[in-house]
Amino acid sequence: MKIQFLGASKTVTGSCFFVETDEVKFLVDCGAYQGGDELEKENFKPFPFDPADLDFVFLTHAHYDHSGRIPVLVKQGFRGRIICTQPTRDLAKIILLDSANLQQEESKRWEVNPRTDVEERKPLFTEQDVEDCMRFFEVYPYGSSVNLTRTCEFRLRDAGHILGSAILEVWLENSAGRVRKLVFSGDLGQPGARIVCDPDLIREADYVICESTYGNRIHKDRNETVLELLGILQNAQKEGGNILIPSFAIERTQEILYEINLFIENRLLTGLPVYLDSPMASKATEVFRQYPDFYDEDAKRLLKKGDDPFDFPDLHKVDSAEESKRLAMKKGIVIIAGSGMCTGGRIMHHLKNNIENKSTNVVIVGYQVKGTLGRRLVDRESVVKIFGAEYKNNAQIHTLGGFSGHGDQRDLNYWLRSFGHTPRKIFLVHGDEEIINEFAGNLAKEIHIPIQIPNIGDIVKLD
Ligand SMILES: [Zn+2]
Ligand SMILES: [Zn+2]
Repeated sequence: MKIQFLGASKTVTGSCFFVETDEVKFLVDCGAYQGGDELEKENFKPFPFDPADLDFVFLTHAHYDHSGRIPVLVKQGFRGRIICTQPTRDLAKIILLDSANLQQEESKRWEVNPRTDVEERKPLFTEQDVEDCMRFFEVYPYGSSVNLTRTCEFRLRDAGHILGSAILEVWLENSAGRVRKLVFSGDLGQPGARIVCDPDLIREADYVICESTYGNRIHKDRNETVLELLGILQNAQKEGGNILIPSFAIERTQEILYEINLFIENRLLTGLPVYLDSPMASKATEVFRQYPDFYDEDAKRLLKKGDDPFDFPDLHKVDSAEESKRLAMKKGIVIIAGSGMCTGGRIMHHLKNNIENKSTNVVIVGYQVKGTLGRRLVDRESVVKIFGAEYKNNAQIHTLGGFSGHGDQRDLNYWLRSFGHTPRKIFLVHGDEEIINEFAGNLAKEIHIPIQIPNIGDIVKLD
C-alpha cells in the first residue's frame, strides 16, 4: 500500500494524492495549481499514472484547487466513480464551468490578438469537457460507511470548510491482509463559522493527511471580525468612497451576505447599497438555498424565522458585463466581486477604477496565495500592476482573518489531538513551506507521533 503526493505539498494549491493497494487505485482530490503563470503550467503536465487505471476519485470539496483537473482526468480516459457530497457535486460544476468559460475566452482573445510577450494558452478543458465529466459523480451523505470493494471502505465526515466539504476516512486492506485506516482532512474549517457546521472530530486513524494552510497563525476572533467589518462599512459610508470586497464566490460571499443581512435586520446599517457583481456567486447562493440540511444551527434558525439569510432590500445582483461596467459611475457602494485573490474576474476592473482613490476601502476576507495581486494588496505594496499598467495603491486595505474558511493553528492542533487511537504517522500538506515547517515544529512539541512533510512526487509506503 502506498501513497504518492502529487500536489499541495509544501504549497497550498493543486491538491492531489494517489493511493495504490494490490486491489485498488484512487485519487483523493484532483485539483489545479493556482497563483501565477509559472505554477499554472504544471496543470498541463501529464499525470504520472494512466487515468484509465484509476478506480475512484474522492473529492473532498468543490474548490478549484481540489477539483480543477477532474475534467482533464476524464478527457484522458478516467471512467471510474467520483465520490463526494451533493453540494460538492453542484458547486464543483459551477466552479469548473466558470473556469472553462474564462479559459475559452482567454484563448479566443489570444487568437484574435496574438501577443509576442505572452505565451499562447490553450484551455486546460472546455465547457463540454465539464459536462462530460459530470456523469461520473456519485453523491453520498456524511456519516455512512460504504464498501466500494471487498478491500476498500469509506465514510465522508463534515469538514466545516465550505458547504458539502468532507473529511475522508478510508479503510484499506494491505498485502498482509491487515486493515489500515487513512484520514484525509481535506480543507478544515473554522469552528464557529456561520453557515457550515464545525469540523467533525475523528477518533481513530493509522495515517492522517492534514492540511496546514494557517498552521502558524491564530485568527482574530470571529465576533471581533464581524464588528470590524461593521466599523469599516460605517466609516466608509461616512467618507463616501467605494468598498471593494474581493471574494471567493463560494462560502465567503455567502458568509459576507449573511453578516450584512444581520447588520441590516438589526438596523446597524442603513442606506448602503451592496452590489453582488458575480454571476457565479449568485449561482452558488442558489445551491446554498437548496441544501439547508447542511447548515449549522444558527443558519437553520434564521431560515425558520422566515428570513432569507442571503438577501436584503439593498442587495443588487449584477449579471451582465455592461451592468458591471456601469458601477464605475457609482460612489458610496459596496461591490462584492471575484476572483477572491484578484487574479482575474470583475474585481480587477473595480480595483483599476478605485485603487488610486484614498476614500476606497478594500476588504480582504480570504487567504491570498503568494504571487497574486490580492497578496500584494495585503502586503501593502505602494504600486500595483493591473492589466499590465501600474497604479498607486492609495486605498485603505483591511485584512479580516476571522472570515477565513480554514481553521488556525489552535484549531488544527485541536483536531489532530482528538485522535484517541494514536496514528502511526501524520503527513502535513496544503501549506506554504515556511508555514508547514513552523506548524510541524510546534506540533512535535505537543504530540509524539512521527510527522512527515512530503515533497511533490514523494512516494511513501504505508505498512
Ligand atoms: Zn478549499
Ligand atoms: Zn484547498
